[in-house]
Amino acid sequence: MRVLGIETSCDETAAAVVEDGRRALSDVVATQIDVHRRWGGVVPELASRNHVVQVMPVVDEALSRAGVGPDGVDAIAVTSGPGLVGALLVGVQAAKALAAAWGKPLVRVNHLEGHLVAAFLAETAPAFPFLGLVVSGGHTSLYAARAFGEYQLLGHTRDDAAGEAFDKGAKLLGLPYPGGVAIDRLAREGDPGAIRFPKAIVKGADLDFSFSGLKTALLHHVKKHGVPEGRGLADLCASYQEAIVRALVEKAFRAARRLQFDRLVLSGGVAANSRLRAAAAARAAEYEGMSVFLPAVKLCTDNAAMIAVAGTHAYLRGERAGPELNADPAWRL
Ligand code: ATP
Ligand code: MG
Ligand code: FE
Repeated sequence: MRVLGIETSCDETAAAVVEDGRRALSDVVATQIDVHRRWGGVVPELASRNHVVQVMPVVDEALSRAGVGPDGVDAIAVTSGPGLVGALLVGVQAAKALAAAWGKPLVRVNHLEGHLVAAFLAETAPAFPFLGLVVSGGHTSLYAARAFGEYQLLGHTRDDAAGEAFDKGAKLLGLPYPGGVAIDRLAREGDPGAIRFPKAIVKGADLDFSFSGLKTALLHHVKKHGVPEGRGLADLCASYQEAIVRALVEKAFRAARRLQFDRLVLSGGVAANSRLRAAAAARAAEYEGMSVFLPAVKLCTDNAAMIAVAGTHAYLRGERAGPELNADPAWRL
C-alpha cells in the first residue's frame, strides 16, 4: 500500500510517498532555513505563511517523483502535533482537503513517532522492541518502543532540548542558524578535550536530561574570555559539542543496559551530528550484542517519509481521522 505523508510542524514543508511502510518512493523537503536565518531562529508567523505557499507544490512534487497520481495513493498521513500551531494547521488543512477531494482515508501522526520510526526506511530496519532516543530542536526523549503505536516515555529533558543547546550555544558564539550544523562543522577541526564543561547529566532522576547548565557554562566562558577565533573557536565548539554528546550517549546506553534492550535507535535533527553518530557507534562496538541504528542524515531531520511510515501502521491498525481533525500543538507521545 502507498501512503502520502505531509509534514509542516516546524520550518520544513515536506511530503513523501511511502510504499508498504518501508520504501520511500519520493521524499521532498522544502526547507525554510534561509527565511529564518536572518532572525536567528524560527519565526512562527513566517513559517506558517511559507507553508501555505509551499505545501501544494511540495505535494505535487512528491507525487510526480513517486510516479503516482492521487489514484495510486491509499491513504494520507499528516503530522497534527506537536509543533507550532499555525504551521501544523497548514498541513492538517491541506491533508483534509486532499482526503475529501480524492476520497481517501486520513490518519493523524505524532511528529515524535515519525522520528522514532524513520529508521524503518533504512535498508536494515530495527526490530521491536528497541530503545529510541529522539534528539531534536524541541525534544530530547528516551522511549521504549515495543511495537508500532506502543511507546513508553522513559526520560526526557528537564529544560532545554539537545538541539536547543546547539542552537543557543551557536547564537552565543555568533554562528549562523541552525546552530547544530555550524557547531558540527567547526568542531571537526577542534579538540574536544580543550575546555572542560560540566557534565550535562541530572543526578538522581536517572533517565532525564538537562542542558541549561551547559549553556550557562558556555555563557560564562564567553563573558570571561570572549568569543575566540580560528583554532580557539573550533576547540570551544568541539568541547561544547562533546559535553552534549557525552550526556546523550551515556544516558542512552545506561538505559539500554538497565532495561536490557539490545537495539538503540537514534533520530531527530541532532542525530545528524557527526560526533554523536561516531560516539554511539563506537560505544555500541564496545558492548557486544548491542546494535545502534543511525538513519541517514536526511531521515534524521524533519521529513514526511517518516510520517508516512507511522501513518501506514496507524492506518493498518484501523485509525482514521475525520474532517474535525485539528492541530494538537502539545500532543504528548
Ligand atoms: P522537533 O522534532 O523537536 O519538533 P525540529 O522540528 O526543530 O524539532 P528537527 O529537524 O527534528 O526539527 O531538528 C532540528 C534540530 O537539529 C536543530 O536544533 C538543529 O540545530 C539540529 N541539528 C541539525 N543538524 C545537526 C548536526 N549536524 N549537529 C547537531 N545538531 C543538528
Ligand atoms: Mg526543522
Ligand atoms: Fe522534528
